[in-house]
Amino acid sequence: MARQEDQYDVIVVGAGAAGLSAAIMLGRQKRRVLVVSLKNRRNSPADRVNNVPFAHGTPPAEVYQKMESDAASYGVVFVWDEVLTARSTTDSVTVETIGSGSFTGDRLLLATGPVDDLPEWIPEGQWGKTVFDCPYCHTLEHDGANFVTVGTGEETLQHALLCRQYSDRLTAVVSDLAAEKSPLAERLKAAGGEVVADTVRSATTLQSGELLLVTEAGLEITAGAVVLDTAIQRPNQLLPKALGLELNPYGFPRTTLFGQTSHPRVYNTGKSNPSSPYFAWTGAAASGLNAARKISEDLAFG
Ligand SMILES: Cc1cc2nc3c(=O)[nH]c(=O)nc-3n(C[C@H](O)[C@H](O)[C@H](O)COP(=O)(O)OP(=O)(O)OC[C@H]3O[C@@H](n4cnc5c(N)ncnc54)[C@H](O)[C@@H]3O)c2cc1C
Repeated sequence: MARQEDQYDVIVVGAGAAGLSAAIMLGRQKRRVLVVSLKNRRNSPADRVNNVPFAHGTPPAEVYQKMESDAASYGVVFVWDEVLTARSTTDSVTVETIGSGSFTGDRLLLATGPVDDLPEWIPEGQWGKTVFDCPYCHTLEHDGANFVTVGTGEETLQHALLCRQYSDRLTAVVSDLAAEKSPLAERLKAAGGEVVADTVRSATTLQSGELLLVTEAGLEITAGAVVLDTAIQRPNQLLPKALGLELNPYGFPRTTLFGQTSHPRVYNTGKSNPSSPYFAWTGAAASGLNAARKISEDLAFG
């Protein structure tokens, strides 16, 4: 059980792919580790995880439960609560939760993931099922469906081209008029896809399980799978701002490949900016391991 008077070697905020991977490695290093997190992970709405070694087809909740029990077996302690703010002194870092008090550690690892700002038109229960933002993780599960990619510009056309092999009927709805005339748009049309310069206004779930999308211009498109662009993701800046961390041009904390931030006691890991070398769930987990390694070394070497 977590006690506020305990001094932890490492406090990890966020029990997703990155935070749990880091916590397990640090626990195995016999570090005193506290994980503070909410239960909802980015991929929680999906039925299964894909492209994750040894876990294809497993419900996300099962994967996290196994990782949590692995971490606990190495002495990692959990507090399921929201962290509201964080502050540091010269020799410690403290996080404050909504209902469980505050906790102090030698090092702090932020693994809070991005925030998804979902379009209001997505019908209840469809995010992570029929609507998603990645052309790799859940596309095969919709093989043969009508694919519609939705977004502002070039990325939406790229997503459509990446989904070409799954669908005979493929439509890219782009709100940026310039994108409609770009070489990628020509390539998509040559591959049998359709490019619509418009914006989705609403969507309803049909009895078939498909979505009926209606655009601002009144066009109706039936979709068995909808792929949004990654513009829906924004950095989770709550704790980086509270700690005064330097941010990169995408608004995520500026870090080294090992998660070191501009603050010597604070590390940041997990899903972050589009130019990150880490990709999808396994990439987030790998970045967690890299940060855990650096924290271990910093604790050991001073
Ligand atoms: C619908 C969907 C399906 C996906 N499916 C796949 C897939 O099949 N395969 C794949 O490889 N990738 C998939 N992804 C991508 C994958 O989920 C992410 O790359 C991965 O979850 C990122 O891990 P993370 O640890 O950085 O963040 P997260 O998994 O989001 O973990 C962050 C954790 O921090 C917690 N948190 C945030 N702020 C606070 C706070 N202030 N206080 C306390 N806790 C906080 C959150 O609640 C969460 O538990 C999917 C993404 C989505 C959106």
